[in-house]
Amino acid sequence: MKQTKKKLRFPIGYLLLALCVAFLLNSLITIPREIKIDYSEFKDLLAEDRIKEVTIEKERITGKALMAGDKGEEEKAFVTIRVEDPQLIADLRQHGVTFSGKRENTLLNSLIAWVLPLLLIVGIWIFFMRRVGRGPEFMSVGRSKAKILPEDQLDVTFDDVAGVDEATEELKEVVEFLRNPKKFTQLGGKLPKGVLLVGPPGCGKTLLAKAVAGESKVPFFSISGSEFVEMFVGVGAARVRDLFARALEKAPCIIFVDELDALGKARGINPVGGHDEREQTLNQLLVEMDGFDTKKGVILMAATNRPEILDPALLRPGRFDRHVLVDRPDIKGRQAILEIHAKEVKLAKDVDFAALAGMTPGFVGADLANVINEAALLAARRGEKAVRMAEMEEAIERIVAGLEKKTRVMNKQERRIVAYHELGHALVALSVPNADPVQKVSIIPRGIAALGYTLQRPTEDRYLMTKSELINRLTTLLGGRVAEELTFDEVSTGAQNDLVKATDIARSMVKEYGMSEAMGLVAFERNRQPLYLQTAPFSSSPEYSEETSRAIDAEIKRIVDEAHQRARKILTKKKKVLDKVAQILLEKEVIQGDELKRLVSEAG
Ligand code: ADP
Ligand code: MG
Ligand code: ZN
Repeated sequence: MKQTKKKLRFPIGYLLLALCVAFLLNSLITIPREIKIDYSEFKDLLAEDRIKEVTIEKERITGKALMAGDKGEEEKAFVTIRVEDPQLIADLRQHGVTFSGKRENTLLNSLIAWVLPLLLIVGIWIFFMRRVGRGPEFMSVGRSKAKILPEDQLDVTFDDVAGVDEATEELKEVVEFLRNPKKFTQLGGKLPKGVLLVGPPGCGKTLLAKAVAGESKVPFFSISGSEFVEMFVGVGAARVRDLFARALEKAPCIIFVDELDALGKARGINPVGGHDEREQTLNQLLVEMDGFDTKKGVILMAATNRPEILDPALLRPGRFDRHVLVDRPDIKGRQAILEIHAKEVKLAKDVDFAALAGMTPGFVGADLANVINEAALLAARRGEKAVRMAEMEEAIERIVAGLEKKTRVMNKQERRIVAYHELGHALVALSVPNADPVQKVSIIPRGIAALGYTLQRPTEDRYLMTKSELINRLTTLLGGRVAEELTFDEVSTGAQNDLVKATDIARSMVKEYGMSEAMGLVAFERNRQPLYLQTAPFSSSPEYSEETSRAIDAEIKRIVDEAHQRARKILTKKKKVLDKVAQILLEKEVIQGDELKRLVSEAG
């Protein structure tokens, strides 16, 4: 990139230089070797018969005259400015001087007057256009900058990816389709148009996309979302059009938009001067996605680590309708990733990948690749022949220190707290009737706020919930906090989100559903209306007295307190199970639902 720029600047520099030289030469040649004299002097010379011949031009008179020189009288060329003088011709005739008229060379003059500046302007224009536009054709701004990786250069396969097995499984289907699109379309099958890879940075989203291309052996157009967004309005949209047009020519192929959030931020989020350009680009992307047909074999893939800020229109069916979660690896996944990256380094016999995986909770794939690399560098610096466990451990320590600053890695005590907290939820959920089954408990941090999570998935869609179900849910929510209370002397801030949710449930029970005996069958709150329909914006004036308000608060508190007591009772009974399973969870980091049930029944 930089090189081509330099190459282009040189001839233009030469051109300017040549112009200057020509200019100088020109003025040198035309430097008057004639002697400049005043018109009066000319008239005197004429009177003295010293003028030999004269050429009259429009603005000056040139000619030859006898003048005093180094060696006495000499014939010299002279020039004088022409003055309005009706007598001139008569005088010249009187003194017998031959004279002639001369028209100025208008062609040359106009050449200099018009063409030269024009040339200069054009030169300067080209110069700047080349600096702005990339490449010799400066009409290429609207061309997409997507890099095409030809099939033979794609050497990434699914074997290079580990620890994200669920994502890999899902993407294998896409590969199958790209390899043999006819097989699918013959049966009338429809493939997702867009596959969105979602997950924290460094977990292997880009790597997975490359693996899909490498496995399916089709061209891979890769572009970053930020590369669409440019200074000039309309350029991004033109690039999107161009990208899809190029991709269609190469079908079957993959278009991969990395960092989609740079482009696909929800429109209209920014109240101060919306970003027109980005909006246009996004609209164009939506239009193209609607327009193209997966039957032709173009699959759009994108990656983001901030799905929550994406424009909802992007996530609608028919667009990015398949979401693949690429999450942080668990202990087994980390071991596999370490093994993949260690293939390229020489290892000493004492390296134990299982132990290393145990030392790296919270690490993502990129961190683990970094561990191997750091360790190899360390070993080289120490003059070792192979990378030993000692170097691995030191590399991990260094990286942990870096990650702790970014608060991505928890210390031991934090991990313990999170393990007990999550198990608190899970055990309560297992004990209360009709609770949604627990799918898995994990202490692998996820997202920004959640340090761990308990995944409960309803077995069926629910439209109505009974009072007891709501109370069970409340109790489960408080289980995390209760487990902390029972185990540690202090409670942590980790339960904040749970408390918010619990309070919301209790408030709805009292104010909306009429589920509190004390308050009776009165709905104190209507379904919330959209803001713009409210008559008086921002004034949520309660339709009840202050006294009622106080009673409502008391009821909410009572419901939450009762649920808290209930959770406490359940977990006190199960404290031994809690302790036992917490140890296992700390070791394994993830426990699946079935296994949890088994462990609980064994420990109980
Ligand atoms: P993302 O796009 O999710 O931010 P990348 O795919 O760019 O992450 O990952 C960066 C690097 O980290 C990869 O090139 C690879 O070396 C390593 N890496 C990340 N995740 C994995 C994984 N699951 N398996 C193997 N290597 C991984
Ligand atoms: Mg990436
Ligand atoms: Zn919780």
